Amino acid sequence: MTELAKLMIEHIDKTGPITLAEYMGECLLHPKFGYYSTRDPFGTEGDFTTAPEISQMFGELLGLCLAQTWLEQGSPEVFVLAELGPGRGTLMADVLRATKGVPNFHAAARITLVEASPALKKIQAETLNDYDVTWVGNVEEIPDAPLFLLANEFFDALPIHQYILDDDGWRERLVGVADGELAFGASAAADLPPLANRRKDCRNGDLVEVCAPATAIAAQIAARIGARGGAAIIIDYGDWRSLGDTLQALRNHEFDTPLAHPGQADITAHVDFEALAVAAVSHTPVSKMIAQGELLQRLGIDQRAEALAQGLEGVSLENHLSAHRRLIDPTEMGTLFKAIAFYPNGSTPPPGFSQ
Ligand code: SAH
Repeated sequence: MTELAKLMIEHIDKTGPITLAEYMGECLLHPKFGYYSTRDPFGTEGDFTTAPEISQMFGELLGLCLAQTWLEQGSPEVFVLAELGPGRGTLMADVLRATKGVPNFHAAARITLVEASPALKKIQAETLNDYDVTWVGNVEEIPDAPLFLLANEFFDALPIHQYILDDDGWRERLVGVADGELAFGASAAADLPPLANRRKDCRNGDLVEVCAPATAIAAQIAARIGARGGAAIIIDYGDWRSLGDTLQALRNHEFDTPLAHPGQADITAHVDFEALAVAAVSHTPVSKMIAQGELLQRLGIDQRAEALAQGLEGVSLENHLSAHRRLIDPTEMGTLFKAIAFYPNGSTPPPGFSQ
């Protein structure tokens, strides 16, 4: 049993079951035993690999996409270049390398990273030590200026609530203790006004996931872009409208049951892109959701891959070709991962996001 499991069991024994959101939040960011607070989870040594860690092309193409959007909006002289949950800082490093040649882009950019984990902040500082970088703890603290923002696999790490519909209403999935171990349970049934619209498309037994921080953050970002200009590109695994249990734990590149190793496994849930769009749309236009593979191909990944392949041979060439495939192939990340963009009224969507 993990240290965090012991602490949680003690707490639940005293005060009763906790929500799944509380459980997830503690698992990921408990100051002493939280998954992100204590380690570098990425890469072959870690528990999972993300798109920027697979290939430099991911960050390069998104960087050029943001730079093009900045040019189209009249190259504001000062803007915030932000990333939510930058992991090792690889995506931002690739963005910055690819945009070096865009006149004034770097001079105008105030690089701002939103990161909650002290361990990962350190790694980001090493990766980006050639640049002037500011860290903030949450989106509200991002300096007030036009905002050009990326978020890759950030929203999936935000705590969700799960609700199951039955004849009496919605029951929230809770984490309690049974036989001395953490176990799932459910609350009493209630009519939950925020879920009223889901009664039409849900049947008894259906499970719906709600991520309150995700919609709050989407609204904050969109409000900033609506008022000051900029664009946000959000990429994650998920789909349009949540239905069903997508809670998932990964440990050493293998699926784990979500209650088995709190603090030692990565816990995520699919992102509900409809919920993000609904939260944003009163502030900014929202692009159509598109698959990651399609976005990267529209941004020119095939040409970029070919150009990079020219200088490679043997194992490096094979790795490069397989990284290209992993990012775009429908059987790999190509369709499981989706992207959406927010952009200001009167502007065109960022390249790749037009209808
Ligand atoms: N974007 C990176 C890493 C994704 S992992 C990549 O693609 O490789 C999720 C990241 O979000 C980690 O850096 C984690 O520490 C951070 N994070 C998770 N919850 C957060 C929160 N509530 N506030 C700020 N950062 C958070």
